[in-house]
Amino acid sequence: MSGKAIGNQSGWKPEMAASDALIAAPTATGNRALMLEEPLIFEIGSTDRTGVDLADVPAAPSRLGGMERATPIGLPGLSEQETVRHYTRLSRQNYAIDLGLFPLGSCTMKHNPRLNEKVARMPGFADLHPLSPQSEVQGALAVIHELGQWLKTLTGMAAVAMSPKAGAHGELCGLLAIRAALEARGDARSVILVPESAHGTNPATAAFCGYAVEDIPATPEGRVDLEALEARLGVGGPDCDVAAVMITNPNTCGLFERDMKKIADAVHAAGAFVYCDGANFNAIVGRVRPGDLGVDAMHINLHKTFSTPHGGGGPGSGPVVLSEALAPFAPLPIVERQADGSFHLVEEETAGADHGQAFGRMVAFHGQMGMFTRALAYILSHGADGLRQVAEDAVLNANYILRSLEDVVDAPFGGTGPCMHEALFSDKGLAEGFSTLDVAKGLIDEGYHPMTMYFPLVVHGAMLIEPTETESKAALDQFIMALRSVAERAKAGDESLKGAPWFAPRRRLDETLAARKPRLAWEEAGGLAVQAAAE
Ligand SMILES: *Cc1c(COP(=O)(O)O)cnc(C)c1O
Repeated sequence: MSGKAIGNQSGWKPEMAASDALIAAPTATGNRALMLEEPLIFEIGSTDRTGVDLADVPAAPSRLGGMERATPIGLPGLSEQETVRHYTRLSRQNYAIDLGLFPLGSCTMKHNPRLNEKVARMPGFADLHPLSPQSEVQGALAVIHELGQWLKTLTGMAAVAMSPKAGAHGELCGLLAIRAALEARGDARSVILVPESAHGTNPATAAFCGYAVEDIPATPEGRVDLEALEARLGVGGPDCDVAAVMITNPNTCGLFERDMKKIADAVHAAGAFVYCDGANFNAIVGRVRPGDLGVDAMHINLHKTFSTPHGGGGPGSGPVVLSEALAPFAPLPIVERQADGSFHLVEEETAGADHGQAFGRMVAFHGQMGMFTRALAYILSHGADGLRQVAEDAVLNANYILRSLEDVVDAPFGGTGPCMHEALFSDKGLAEGFSTLDVAKGLIDEGYHPMTMYFPLVVHGAMLIEPTETESKAALDQFIMALRSVAERAKAGDESLKGAPWFAPRRRLDETLAARKPRLAWEEAGGLAVQAAAE
């Protein structure tokens, strides 16, 4: 791959960057060239059509005890071809990592190697039933066990709970283990400390577990204020009410918490635990072992660090690694390797055994098997040296973006040194009346999914960009060129940016209304609910 900026290689230039003419001259169909409009399936389907021929259902006595529907269900029918077209048209209105760079900070939208998919689809894994006898699924248990060994080795931790099904679920698992450990020593504590820059799931998890949540202030350099933390912890001992501190490292400003060991020492001296949000493990895998920094519990987002397609809310997998102190409280089930080399799934607490203090279960079965196979395929295909390279390249790419853009977009922590795996910018310097939102919408016209916006909260109008290690220099250069152009328009007060996106299937929606008052059920007269609300 050549390293030169590709930009618009054909030399073609759009007549107008933001053409009102496009809007003024609507097409008869609503389609714009090959970008096709698509109504809801309820609007194009009808109850008397179907794509399949089904035999009449033979008359049989009802066994539903009078609970059967009194009226037809009213599902819209389409022919097979219409069905295929409906979903294909909708899919073309989507953006995906397989289409282009996905700069969402904190989400680690990296390429998902097809090898992982092939492995996950092997019938020996994909067709298993979760209630199969253990003797018949030894290979699957071996995968869970081996992946767990890798996660413990990479993090330098004593134990791992494999079953949590997302990062947030892993946070819950970690805090429940911490609570169980505190209860076991008769030490009821009521407060969890969370930095202001934390991902929203951290305080949400703490509150869900019944803890009071308090902020840890940040330094002007965007890191945890160690002095303020020590002051809050006080002398510790029986009077200390702090159960745990939740810290993200690297944090959501894309910065490494250099004082992590000192933070952990202070927290432990106060008799509390250190929860580390490991969603950003991508940046340090193979380079730093969180166990060496004094972490007691950390979730790993397999879908981020170890790749798995994870747009649109799933699937996720959030195994939690635990320190010696928390290991006895790990939830069931646990896969154990036995003396004869076979694997055993521990499903029950057994008094006196290692897992006699398990706090309970997180899931009905074993966790996300399809993601375990993907993550292990990813880890084995990279090897230990390859994983270290992942972290190094992720950090290199983010710094390339930071340094290539900081002359046009304000980088609040750019002066404090290199960033980790994500570059953080603010809205400072945009023309009066222009915001991060305008920049994001302008990026859509340039063919990019916007970056993470307005997060972390500690930076005004935050724009958080995580290129990941899988983007080539050419891809980064084109993205930089696009963002430069949009940022320059926002700084110059180019009013046309206010109307962006001009070329997307939908323009600016009232996202607040759509989020606060979603109309999730189709009503005959209503039509496109969200669109109507916005226009
Ligand atoms: C993604 C993320 C989470 C939550 O993980 P999910 O798998 O989406 O539940 C938590 N913290 C940080 C920093 C994240 O980036």
